[in-house]
Amino acid sequence: MDNVSEIPRVLVLGAGVAGTRAALYLEELSQKGEIEIVVVNEKYYHLLILNLHEAATDRIGAKAVLLSLEEIFRDKNIILHCAKVTGINLNEKYVIASGKKISYDFLVIALGGKANFYNIPGLAEYALPLRTLKDAETIKDHILEMFKFGIKEHDVKKKKELLTFVVGGIGAAGTQFATELADWITDLRTHYDVSQDSVRIVAVEAMETMGIDRPLVRYAYKILKEKGIKPIFSTSIQSIDNHTIYMSNGKKIHSRTLVWTGGIKGHELIEKTGLQVNHQKRAKVNGYLEAEGHEGVFVIGDASVVINPETGKPMIPSAQMALNEATYVAEHLISRIRKKPLYEYKPHRRGVAISLGRKDGASIVYQFRLLGRIGKFFKILTEIRYFYMLGGLRQIIGGLRLRSHKTYFPSSTKT
Ligand SMILES: Cc1cc2nc3c(=O)[nH]c(=O)nc-3n(C[C@H](O)[C@H](O)[C@H](O)COP(=O)(O)OP(=O)(O)OC[C@H]3O[C@@H](n4cnc5c(N)ncnc54)[C@H](O)[C@@H]3O)c2cc1C
Repeated sequence: MDNVSEIPRVLVLGAGVAGTRAALYLEELSQKGEIEIVVVNEKYYHLLILNLHEAATDRIGAKAVLLSLEEIFRDKNIILHCAKVTGINLNEKYVIASGKKISYDFLVIALGGKANFYNIPGLAEYALPLRTLKDAETIKDHILEMFKFGIKEHDVKKKKELLTFVVGGIGAAGTQFATELADWITDLRTHYDVSQDSVRIVAVEAMETMGIDRPLVRYAYKILKEKGIKPIFSTSIQSIDNHTIYMSNGKKIHSRTLVWTGGIKGHELIEKTGLQVNHQKRAKVNGYLEAEGHEGVFVIGDASVVINPETGKPMIPSAQMALNEATYVAEHLISRIRKKPLYEYKPHRRGVAISLGRKDGASIVYQFRLLGRIGKFFKILTEIRYFYMLGGLRQIIGGLRLRSHKTYFPSSTKT
């Protein structure tokens, strides 16, 4: 067991969107010697997950989505361990990370989620999820390979199969990926002098629509169509094998590529630890964002499910929710340690910002809708704000510099 600290130790598991914010804000709010903050993250980097679709479509180089955690926590009273958490003992208040025990007084679980394949036959085996850097690289390499083989293929049926790219699930991640993919495919077609009608992008969505705000959805739909993407709504994927996707409308799509952005489930450690979970294996939490029945154990971000008390429905997981929850938990912990009155978390959403390829975006800021270039501009502003939150001007400059990292295209796409 590690040295037990005299002061209360807050152990944060995961340094993604929620965990990093929780640790940084807690450090900002606390006084010297008031608490000890320890963060454990599997990787040495903070993944800019909101830009992952750009890395998966060769828009930015892989390095552009990685920020060094050491750099983020530089000059902060935060202890960082780059280790994989494999166990959590809630009774004895310790976790196991890369074989070592780390004790805690308060635990903040921010381990994120995993792709949910909903037990759809063949999905886990053949679909390509988009959640990690490795996923993004796999998708990029796979699409490039299919494209290069496809344009040289003489068998018409096989050619169509190779040059049909399917996106499963068109929520925020799926829409952003599909539109960015369309722009990449346009570049590839131009580079290899391939006609527009030889490549297809199809987006399949089980719901009737792709979001809740009608004008925003209408706009996103218009952009999808303009980019030549065929959206299919109210249709679920029933099964998949290595070259066919079978859908609930009885139709099939012959394709070797299904990028899956159709849903998330909680991290496997949540259920393994014995926490109460919903049907998506995300932890159920109380009004203080504590795991049901476990005082002092907070679960935030994609790892938990927060119910909106006004609607009785779960909030849609997003970076904004993760940040709000992290902010709340930091304030809550400080109040708790200082024995101040506690208030419950009130979920709220101030807006939405999604990109629709390189030039367009759709954002809602309070009651204002920003569509097209201005929507994209606002999306970029949210990214700059995020960099600022991670470390002020230093991270803004670093983050923007990283975005100029070379991509594979066009040098590596040459035959
Ligand atoms: C492609 C894509 C685009 C998206 N676009 C948007 C968008 O435009 N707007 C929006 O609001 N939301 C968007 N989202 C959703 C948003 O990214 C998530 O809701 C958010 O990242 C959740 O934050 P989190 O901290 O819970 O999880 P994460 O950010 O995933 O962080 C989890 C952390 O835990 C670490 N970890 C996992 N397992 C272990 C382990 N065993 N041991 C140690 N560390 C571990 C991981 O390395 C990671 O650092 C997008 C998601 C994707 C995939």
